[in-house]
Amino acid sequence: MKIAMISEHASPLAALGGVDAGGQNVHVAALSEALARRGHQVTVYTRRDATELPARVKVGPGFDVVHVDAGPPQHVPKDELLPFMGELADGVARDWDQRPPDVVHGHFWMSGLAALDAARRAGSGYRVPVIQTFHALGTVKRRHQGAEDTSPQERRWLEPGVGRSADRIIATCSDEVFELKAMGIDTGKISIAPCGVDLDVFGPDGPVAAKPRSHRILSVGRLVPRKGVDLVIRALPHLRAAGFADVELLIVGGGGDSGALHSDPEVRRLLDLAAELGVQDQVVLEGQVPRGDMPGIFRSADAVVCAPWYEPFGIVPLEAMACGVPVVAAAVGGLRDTVVDHATGLHVPPRDPKAIASAVAMLLGNPSLRSELGDAGQRRARARYSWDRVAAESEKAYKLAVAGAAARPAAIPMEGAAL
Ligand code: UDP
Repeated sequence: MKIAMISEHASPLAALGGVDAGGQNVHVAALSEALARRGHQVTVYTRRDATELPARVKVGPGFDVVHVDAGPPQHVPKDELLPFMGELADGVARDWDQRPPDVVHGHFWMSGLAALDAARRAGSGYRVPVIQTFHALGTVKRRHQGAEDTSPQERRWLEPGVGRSADRIIATCSDEVFELKAMGIDTGKISIAPCGVDLDVFGPDGPVAAKPRSHRILSVGRLVPRKGVDLVIRALPHLRAAGFADVELLIVGGGGDSGALHSDPEVRRLLDLAAELGVQDQVVLEGQVPRGDMPGIFRSADAVVCAPWYEPFGIVPLEAMACGVPVVAAAVGGLRDTVVDHATGLHVPPRDPKAIASAVAMLLGNPSLRSELGDAGQRRARARYSWDRVAAESEKAYKLAVAGAAARPAAIPMEGAAL
């Protein structure tokens, strides 16, 4: 198949760990590579966010990235990108002039708008089938972030419109299916394909980063409040009270270089909190870590803690599991599918530092439990979450969309609004 991916803010070529660069970038890159390995021709369209980027980058056999001019050629926060989706669709449709793709797969709601728009213009009397993966849902974000949610107002009606207008939706976890249903989306057109983990990179064998204290607990991800890193810091005094004082909390992600890291207000908030709790000497902020160094860091940890308020999927726990490290995870969203309580890790209620501390203490105090859970996590990651498997599931959804599109009338208007 000729497959077009649209990922407006999350380029597969971007460095990870910044505010808007995380799981979606990994997902789009790894899914595209795996589809190309299966013999498909994949082009990812993303917004040009720097002048020096070439128009087209050949990433590997069957996998190209196209930088489309849409808005200023510089970083723009993702919540300010909506006005440029028409331009993005123009650029994508222009690139399809010669030969439209067999399917277009939108990633995030705004890319879904561009995908529907470009798909309507391609060919005559035929709309390219549109598959949509939301990665995150505005309804969930609003529920948890309330007034702090910086999404544009239009998301409230445009996102469900994308869901209703797309030919198929790929949800990444079972919790998302319930949320989509609550948004009024026909569950008959939803397929589930989780995110995956690169099993050639993330595994138990290989270099191990140095560990300066008896125990290391690890938090990895974009440094945004909803990731709950402050809750892990708040767990440290409880851990100390439980007899685990020589514990380092290593925090990976956030900022850019080390200068930028310390001017990041979220970093300041976390450091102030650590100082207030008297645990500043236990908290180490590492900033953005390149992909290649991540496996060694995971392997050095006694436990990885994921304490988000909510989590659409969460690739970090899969990476930890693949490296054989047990995960303490808030029982929310995708973490309820990936982390199996008392089998590959321990679930804790959301926003509960005491519960995090008890779960971590249970692991730190019991090396054989750690290795039992770590081994099971590794087996689970290998059995279920290879990108090849995810690509095979996505391919099934593409085929269903193509079959459905062949059976439907040509022009289906986009619900919701004009761009
Ligand atoms: N990551 C990284 N370096 C960093 C911070 C994060 O490589 O400094 C990677 C991390 O290993 C994972 C991804 O970014 O692959 C984060 O994905 P996840 O789904 O856990 O979170 P999201 O960013 O989607 O909220």
